Amino acid sequence: MDTRCPTCGRNELIPIVYGLPLGDLFERSEAGEIALGGCTVSPDAPAQLCKNCAARVGRLAHNKEGLGGAAFLSIHPHTS
Ligand SMILES: [Zn+2]
Repeated sequence: MDTRCPTCGRNELIPIVYGLPLGDLFERSEAGEIALGGCTVSPDAPAQLCKNCAARVGRLAHNKEGLGGAAFLSIHPHTS
C-alpha cells in the first residue's frame, strides 16, 4: 500500500479503523496514530486518512477478508 498521500504527497497517512474502538484504539486515535471510521462500513469506505490534508485514501474493499477483517487492519506506529 502506498504510504504517501496522493493529494498532498506527504507521508502522513494513518489507518482508518472501523468498528468499535476496543482496547487502546480510542487512545491511539486521540494520539493521532489512527482514525476511527465508525461502526458502519460501506464497501467503498476509505482505508487511510491523511493527517496533513484530511484526504481519504484507498478502499477497504481491497481487503479480501471483508468488513470483519477491516477492523483489524495492522497498525503501524507513525514514525515520521
Ligand atoms: Zn494529504
